[in-house]
Amino acid sequence: MAISFKKTYKFAVKSAFYITLFSGGFLTLLLYFFQQLDYLLIGVFTVSMYVFSFFVIQYRVERFIYRRVKKIYDDVSLLDSTTFRSQPITTDMATLTRQVKKFATDKKLEIETLKVREEYRREFLGNVSHELKTPLFTVQGYISTLLDGAANDKTLRKKYLERAEKGVERLIYIVKDLDMITKLETGDLNLEYAEFDIIEMIKNVFDLLEMRAAKKKITLTFDTKYAKPILVNADEDKIQQVVTNLVMNSIKYGREGGTTEISIEDLVKNKIIVRVTDNGEGIQKQYIPRLFERFFRVDKSGARSEGGSGLGLAIVKHIIEGHNEKIYVESQYGVGSEFSFTLEKKK
Ligand code: ADP
Repeated sequence: MAISFKKTYKFAVKSAFYITLFSGGFLTLLLYFFQQLDYLLIGVFTVSMYVFSFFVIQYRVERFIYRRVKKIYDDVSLLDSTTFRSQPITTDMATLTRQVKKFATDKKLEIETLKVREEYRREFLGNVSHELKTPLFTVQGYISTLLDGAANDKTLRKKYLERAEKGVERLIYIVKDLDMITKLETGDLNLEYAEFDIIEMIKNVFDLLEMRAAKKKITLTFDTKYAKPILVNADEDKIQQVVTNLVMNSIKYGREGGTTEISIEDLVKNKIIVRVTDNGEGIQKQYIPRLFERFFRVDKSGARSEGGSGLGLAIVKHIIEGHNEKIYVESQYGVGSEFSFTLEKKK
């Protein structure tokens, strides 16, 4: 507050000076005119006049500005009780201007964020309904055909029921991914750090995805034989999800008879880097920066047989960044891709 009054004094000092100058001069003139020039009287008058005007002006201005400014504070506090109320009320215009400016900038930022969020929400809803529509209509189509008579044909019945089931499975898969991404994006990550052997975990993922890989004659392998366990400190289930998504992608976008290879290397003293490399279709350069976006797919047609939810890599990125680690991608179109991420070694 002390600083904020400085400038208001200046106003009173100056105004009092002008009044004193004028009235002192006027008095001198009068006395001179009546030939009663008395310098002591003039001196006493000037000093008293100055002191008097100074205090009156200072007091009046302060009260006046204080009242006006307080009203501004009150009005603004109505909009935002947190930032403005906590500031001391000032009668200094510069401070006030600064505070109002800051308030306006904060508000602008808040509005921008809300706009972005609104855009995000709209886009998210659009994407979700788009993703759900296709499998839902597929299921509905098969069920309708069955009801329309196909159910009487034994072979058709089984075939259509199986296809409907596939559609439902896909719906469940998408809903699960949606559930996951929602949790991740609202910050409900709840990582449970523990020590585990990453080699063991990757072997597990290989076992689980073996059948899928076999369908495309893809070999899942390590770059060398890891005889000793490599212990890391992370959330095992979540990292397993990361590896699963990456290996799954390497199969989905891999070529028939191709290979997915995982390597683990020391990066710095307490970090390792896990690389998942494939020799599949690769990714064109212009798409690489967008790969980790929600719902982003290179092939938007949906005609592709290997349709994911488009959330796989977004989930991967969230999990890795939730661990304060990094994820990288390198890819050459037509040659293959390499996704890698870092992890903390056991302490
Ligand atoms: P999706 O569910 O479509 O697989 P992802 O988020 O997992 O979604 O991947 C986004 C897109 O990145 C995929 O649609 C695909 O075009 C591309 N992509 C991901 N991994 C690979 C890979 N190993 N090789 C080539 N393209 C890939």
